[in-house]
Amino acid sequence: MNKKKVLLFIFLLLSIILVAQSNKNNIQPNACGADNLIQILRKNPAFSANEQKINAQIRLYNLSLQSARTIKYGRANAKKNGIDKSSSVSPITGIIFIPVVVHIINSNPESVTNQMVIDGIKELNDAFSHQGTYSVDPLGVNTGIQFCLANTAPDGSLTNGIDRVNSYYENIDVDLESGALATLTQWDPKFYANIWLVSSIKGEIPPTVFECGIWQRVGYGGYASAGGGLVVSSLSGPLVAHEMGHYLSLLHTFQGQNCANADCTLDGDLVCDTPPDRSTKSSPCNSPENSCNTDTISGPFTKDMPDNISNFMDYGSPCPTVFTQGQSDRMHAFLTVFSGGSLLNSDRCNSPCNGAIMAKFNWYSNSHPVVGDVVNFNNTSTGASNYEWYVNGVLAATTQAFSYKVTTTATYVIKLLAFNASRTCVSSYTGNVMADCGVLARFSPDKRLIASASVIYKDPVLFQNTSYGATNYQWFVSDNTGANFSNAGTTKDLLYNFLLPGIYKIKLTATKGACVSNSGTYTLTVLDPKQDGSISIFEVRCYNNDSIRVVFGINNNGYDTIHAGAVVGFYDKFPGLPNPQKLNNSFVLPTDILGKCSATFTQIIGVSKPKQDSLTLVFDENNLLDELSETNNTAFIQKFQFKIIATPNDTTVYTNSTLSLLVQKKSDDPISSVIWSPTTGLSCTTCVNPILSVTDTVLMKATAKNAFNCTDSATAYIKVFPIDIGLDSSGIDCFKNDSLLVNVKVCLKNGYTKLKNKVEIEYYDNDITLGAANKLGSVFLDPSTVFTNGCMVSPAIVKMTQTPNVSIFINRPLIPFELQTANNALHKKYIPFKLIAQPADYDAFRGEGFSVNIVNQGDTYKNLLWTPSEALSCNNCLSPVVTTNVNREYKITGSNKFFCTDSTFVHVKTYYRSHLALPNVFSPNRDGVNDYFYVIAGKEVATVKEFQIFNRWGERVFNNKNTKPNEYLGGWDGFYKGRLADNGTYVYYIIITLLNGTTEEVKGNITLFR
Ligand SMILES: [Zn+2]
Repeated sequence: MNKKKVLLFIFLLLSIILVAQSNKNNIQPNACGADNLIQILRKNPAFSANEQKINAQIRLYNLSLQSARTIKYGRANAKKNGIDKSSSVSPITGIIFIPVVVHIINSNPESVTNQMVIDGIKELNDAFSHQGTYSVDPLGVNTGIQFCLANTAPDGSLTNGIDRVNSYYENIDVDLESGALATLTQWDPKFYANIWLVSSIKGEIPPTVFECGIWQRVGYGGYASAGGGLVVSSLSGPLVAHEMGHYLSLLHTFQGQNCANADCTLDGDLVCDTPPDRSTKSSPCNSPENSCNTDTISGPFTKDMPDNISNFMDYGSPCPTVFTQGQSDRMHAFLTVFSGGSLLNSDRCNSPCNGAIMAKFNWYSNSHPVVGDVVNFNNTSTGASNYEWYVNGVLAATTQAFSYKVTTTATYVIKLLAFNASRTCVSSYTGNVMADCGVLARFSPDKRLIASASVIYKDPVLFQNTSYGATNYQWFVSDNTGANFSNAGTTKDLLYNFLLPGIYKIKLTATKGACVSNSGTYTLTVLDPKQDGSISIFEVRCYNNDSIRVVFGINNNGYDTIHAGAVVGFYDKFPGLPNPQKLNNSFVLPTDILGKCSATFTQIIGVSKPKQDSLTLVFDENNLLDELSETNNTAFIQKFQFKIIATPNDTTVYTNSTLSLLVQKKSDDPISSVIWSPTTGLSCTTCVNPILSVTDTVLMKATAKNAFNCTDSATAYIKVFPIDIGLDSSGIDCFKNDSLLVNVKVCLKNGYTKLKNKVEIEYYDNDITLGAANKLGSVFLDPSTVFTNGCMVSPAIVKMTQTPNVSIFINRPLIPFELQTANNALHKKYIPFKLIAQPADYDAFRGEGFSVNIVNQGDTYKNLLWTPSEALSCNNCLSPVVTTNVNREYKITGSNKFFCTDSTFVHVKTYYRSHLALPNVFSPNRDGVNDYFYVIAGKEVATVKEFQIFNRWGERVFNNKNTKPNEYLGGWDGFYKGRLADNGTYVYYIIITLLNGTTEEVKGNITLFR
């Protein structure tokens, strides 16, 4: 190949991208080979480099576009769709028209009419402009891209953009013939989008998978590559739109199938407003799958979005109607960078002239001429009056009809120009006539991936011979390394059994006489079909307390069927540990398990050790099966036994409080039922979380069963804080002089409201804990004692203390037990009931009132009495006012309310306020009134030193010395010499001595009268 041809070859690869619709039942509507094709294309370094370059250019274009964006969506709408307002879209100005040529590759090309093609393009345009049947979904946008059937042919003349080729490539094999269509016919991809419409596409879209004995093979609907072209198996709107999307550089929305979204411009489909998607599965339009949760890592989404299953670039949606703005931007960017924007600026949608002329011819009568044939061209042009026929660019005829003899194995390019007489409007039609010796070797396998080997699992492949023109065939099949071809048969089709796994190559030689054609070589991967059992444990449950119930799965990871009869053994330890014990009977597989399929079984296994808690399952324990892998034949599980735990396990709470109990499974085995005991105080006795009303310490036991009648129990030890009995306060009164009445306030703490046993309160005259003390008495509180709001007052009459103390103790033996004992004793001072005259002696002036005071100690008096009651302002109060002329003695007697008594005395002495108060008359008749004449003096007079009285005759009738004043016995009683003296006036002479030692003389008269 010269350099030019190499470039052309690469370009052809680029332009050959495909999508198709197969007749197979399991095909998905949009099943597309673009990914497979691109993997093949990328093996060419030039393609890979170009693809990367274009993607980088698209990205740069879009990033710069983004910075110039304005908000197209309303904010509310954008928010509803989970799109951040800061990234949104750019308005599209104007409509881009892409010229399209439709190549109809068919054994009956006229069966696809021009109108069918026009309708198909109309459908495609609706899809790209979000109109008509595609207008409903709000996620879709008008891409501003439209397609026209080209009106200007590559040579500049008039065309209708429809090309028809009668070819056996209408059924094209993607693996063997992907380049064939472009050699049949292609218009310059710089200026036209080439659409090849075939009848079917043979191939399988990877990955081809095997499930439960059945291969899931997905056929092609179409394929395409960016800038290359589209191959479609129908003109279905969604199919063509999907492949056209690829052609304009879009990738599948699930591209990568890995949810990657570190940078939405570099991950997945390289488009930011299509949510990350890893699924090719179909889901209902109104209930889209959400296969990725990476949506918000980069890009416009502010919340996790469902997959955009309505996108044209997704698979299998029943409702493909959407290109997003981001996809639209990417297509615009691609058009900008692809081939220098040649498609963007192509003017081939325009008609070069206004004429009702259309050039058209065919050579259906000999579509595959042999060298030496004369090919007759059937001119079906319309509207023309003149014609020019060109062969390989050389004018060959100007007639209406044309025949040409092909003389060598080559492609002859036949072009017809049709025009009117003035040649103002010229239409052209071009066809490639391929002449050879008349044989083409082709075939297609009916399977593209198998698992097969001799005896084990044979899966023959039918190689369907699609050759043209041959009479004899020779098949060649390599060994399982792809080398050493050998003859495999001469039948038309080849049904072949591959007896060893490996990579095979298959080719076909077709001949007719001397004409020989060699097919392309097909490479087939044959997998090892062995069975491969693996075992997994899904669930182990205790069963009837003496067995275990095992739910396990056997998975056949291989292809061949695992037949009924395979054995699973059960052991009590992990394999490899010493002395494993085989349990019960082995399990014998009751049914076949097909390749890549699994089955679940349940087995009850008796265990000799109760509560055995480890288990190993061994598949194919006797090692009878030939498997792909023997290392996945065991499964181990432990700690599966039914166990429960009760909470709180051990706690201390206040009595008369409530507490939530809970029983939970401790292993994976769920609780089926539970019974609590004892039942007292429980809100329910068979629920897992009862409320317990706590009155006393209790050991709660929960006994539970699993679904299979296994039991386990657990306890919750609920303790209550011990009672705390406290002496709060007391009052002490004297009682009947010889006793005390003690009222003590007793309170229960820590939530208690009553006593459970008799408790003694003891009374002592001192703190018994400090030394000797005498017990004054005691009382008992019994369990019937009522405590109101936790407290009560206990009265007791005890012996009178002989100390100033009363010490009260409660519950000294600590029965019931108390933690807190500081409040179990109360020490009080006792003050006896007393009345104290303070002072007891008073000196007073005669006739002048003064207060006396009695101090009341201990209990407050209830009754009080002064005796006598004369000269008192009150005789029952503590501080009466006394007004008297004479000396007095009072006895004050009182009692408290509990009949304790006390008494005291008050003495009053009276004085004159001046030195002396001497009368001038007295009447000594012994009537008790004024019978004496004596010295009445104030307090300052200490003694009467001289007291002498004389009658009118100068006789001294009375003489006394050194007496006390105010003492009438120290005075004159009116008698003289044994008889009462006469009435009359007498003279007295008195000398007094004052307290300060001085003396004074007093003289005067006194009249004796009787
Ligand atoms: Zn696709």
